[in-house]
Amino acid sequence: MVLLTTTSSRSSAATPCELWLPERERARLAAAAVAAYPREACGLLIGRITVRAVEVVHIVVAANVAEEPQRAFVVPAVTWFTATDWAAANGLAVVGVWHAHPDGAAVPSAADALAAWNDYACVIVAVTRKKAGAPRAYWRQHGVLREQTVRATTRRA
Ligand SMILES: [Zn+2]
Repeated sequence: MVLLTTTSSRSSAATPCELWLPERERARLAAAAVAAYPREACGLLIGRITVRAVEVVHIVVAANVAEEPQRAFVVPAVTWFTATDWAAANGLAVVGVWHAHPDGAAVPSAADALAAWNDYACVIVAVTRKKAGAPRAYWRQHGVLREQTVRATTRRA
């Protein structure tokens, strides 16, 4: 993809074991997940990657254009382009993808594990009709997804 122009760290061997998620953005993610139920909500994570952590600054809520949005998600290409431009203009990058698992657990499905990209965070939130659970984060490196510790932050975007 052509969206990695601002991330010189992208090609490094960084294995961030934490994902920092601002409380305000976590709340937006949860609200989007509940609103989309029983479809899978989805979107992108914008921020920066350090050796230690994926620092999410902003979440993008996307339309789910999958053919079966109850069972899968697809982020529209236009959302990728818009988010990439916005991130670059703000000295940031698209650092991951998030989606919801309606009535499921916040663990990657086999399809998620296949679809995830190397050196991107994958955040999953379990959601029911009424409530979203705590987001869980995974980092894919060399084809393997490893869970990251999600830390709430209060930093402003
Ligand atoms: Zn999934």
